[in-house]
Amino acid sequence: MNRSITNALLDLKKSIPSKVTLVAVSKTKSNEMILEAMHAGQIIFGENKVQELVSKYEALPKSIEWHMIGHLQTNKVRFVVPFVSLIHSVDSLKLLKEINKEASKIKRVISCLLEIKIAQEEEKHGMSVEDAKSLLDSEAFFQLKHVRVVGLMGIASFTEDESIVRSEFKKLSLAYTELKSKHRLEILSMGMSGDYKIAIEEGSTMVRVGSTIFGSR
Ligand SMILES: *Cc1c(COP(=O)(O)O)cnc(C)c1O
Repeated sequence: MNRSITNALLDLKKSIPSKVTLVAVSKTKSNEMILEAMHAGQIIFGENKVQELVSKYEALPKSIEWHMIGHLQTNKVRFVVPFVSLIHSVDSLKLLKEINKEASKIKRVISCLLEIKIAQEEEKHGMSVEDAKSLLDSEAFFQLKHVRVVGLMGIASFTEDESIVRSEFKKLSLAYTELKSKHRLEILSMGMSGDYKIAIEEGSTMVRVGSTIFGSR
């Protein structure tokens, strides 16, 4: 048994309010390490690559709740829809339609978050707040009966400058509060190992933490 994963997880939980959900990001980490975290009480795990997510789902206990947190291509949607419990990274109506199509075939309703681009960095995925608003108000979205948009997700800039990170989280939090007045949203997924404390201060309800639990990659 790897005591350090257990200790890291328990320490982390002490610094996260109980109303904030912890997603343990297990990408690149072994099944043994995931089992260790499970034994320490963790149920929700996040992965960012479809193939890795599917093979871990197949190998590990079915009591795990798997979250897809990475960019998802439409041609890979069908592999995750049968078992995933939340998709954090929906960045277009096209992707949402594909998830809906695959979910309808197996009579599931998939919970999704809209990923909002809050960082300045070019390589980051996500839609604008304006696009998220018009998506949620659209007739095309209203027609989709096998997806539920339950919140927003964002990734802050990778920088030492806390004021930039905080202002990006503030922007997302503001959009969340605004959209919540009209739509039934309950999850604001923001915060990773380096910035989850700031994210929680700015209203995050779900943090995605990897290296603090499992060590650096
Ligand atoms: C890898 C990853 C995380 C976790 O990153 P850490 O810095 O290891 O905590 C969170 N969210 C997404 C989308 C990721 O890809």
